[in-house]
Amino acid sequence: MENKVGDEMYSMIRTLYPICRSITGDGVRTTLAEISHHIDINIVEVATGTQVFDWVVPKEWNIRDAYVISPQGEKIIDFKASNLHVLNYSVPINKTISLDELRKHIYTLPDQPEWIPYRTSYYNETWGFCMAHNDYLKLEEGSYEVVIDSDLSAGSLSYGEFFIQGESDDEVLISCHICHPSLCNDNLSGIALSTQLAQQLQGRKLKYSYRFLFIPGTIGSITWLSRNQEKISKIKHGLVVVCVGDEGQFHYKKSKSGDAYIDRAVENVLNHSGHDFGLIDFYPYGYDERQYCSPGINLDVGSLSRSSHGQYDEYHTSKDDLALVSEQALSESLTCYLDVVDVLENDQCYMNLSPMCEPQLGKRGLYRKLGASEGRAFGEMALLWVLNMSDGKTSLLDISNRSGLAFPEIKNAALALKQAELLQ
Ligand code: ZN
Repeated sequence: MENKVGDEMYSMIRTLYPICRSITGDGVRTTLAEISHHIDINIVEVATGTQVFDWVVPKEWNIRDAYVISPQGEKIIDFKASNLHVLNYSVPINKTISLDELRKHIYTLPDQPEWIPYRTSYYNETWGFCMAHNDYLKLEEGSYEVVIDSDLSAGSLSYGEFFIQGESDDEVLISCHICHPSLCNDNLSGIALSTQLAQQLQGRKLKYSYRFLFIPGTIGSITWLSRNQEKISKIKHGLVVVCVGDEGQFHYKKSKSGDAYIDRAVENVLNHSGHDFGLIDFYPYGYDERQYCSPGINLDVGSLSRSSHGQYDEYHTSKDDLALVSEQALSESLTCYLDVVDVLENDQCYMNLSPMCEPQLGKRGLYRKLGASEGRAFGEMALLWVLNMSDGKTSLLDISNRSGLAFPEIKNAALALKQAELLQ
């Protein structure tokens, strides 16, 4: 089956996959430059040392190469083969050490002995390597040459922002992290979906304004929130886009209130998506929803994903690769996001203009006739539900939830009734 948007998202992931990203540095800049080939993002640099709430923008990290040479002269760990081999944010090192000392700086996954783990040390200056446990077991006594050609020095933190002005200044926040190196589902799938969503919304007539953030995890959202405090109150609903490319079951992690409008909108969409899904109550860990839902910020932000944070075997390993994500899964995820936007954009309360018993649908050509609006069909039951419940206070989303009929059907029925001058 042809899947143009799925192909586009997958191909963007393939382009971004080799880049060694971190919370700062040229990997992030290259990534933002690639996103800007698709949408005209504003790229912001915030200097090292800038105070952002209780945090400070860290030194900038860049890396050119890293490897370990065995006593036999063989390159046994090579950054150029996989950037996950280096503990992300490693300080530079170039020396010869014993096996015992090397072991103190190596991270492996004994339970997944063929996979390389992804590890970071942003706020504790050290160095290290990550490798497959089976290769680690083969290390022999002797002297090892360890080289990390990196630098950690004053620079800046980079993030990207894309804004679409709608009719209202009320905003919908779409946020994804861009700080993981070669990991596809965790990180790249969110970037690709957010970019595609922005492309599709751009140029549409929209009720809400949409703000897309492409930021390094944690420090990026803290930095943005700290520098844009006057904008926070405009954000009415938000979603953190992560892990949307694997074939796992959908999950929605609710906002802190658990009963925010965005929570009801996403749950409604998932109920009618035809996919199995799980609902997760908010907990103060995971991705940037932690910052958006912190007590002083308190935004209604949830997170719609496939497999959820940390809950899949390949999470933070070299197996979160190009084979874990698929065009099909990406486009199913995008459809869910677009359906949520459809609810946000089109939900409203109507008033039945002929409330004294049922209006006669037959004389208006609406009785026992399957109608269609915007190319989507609706049935007579949808007409009856909308007429019955449109009291000026009950929204189309409420009617969809009450009737068990999908939001688009309720919306299309309402449009037909409006056209027949039965609703306003
Ligand atoms: Zn992660």
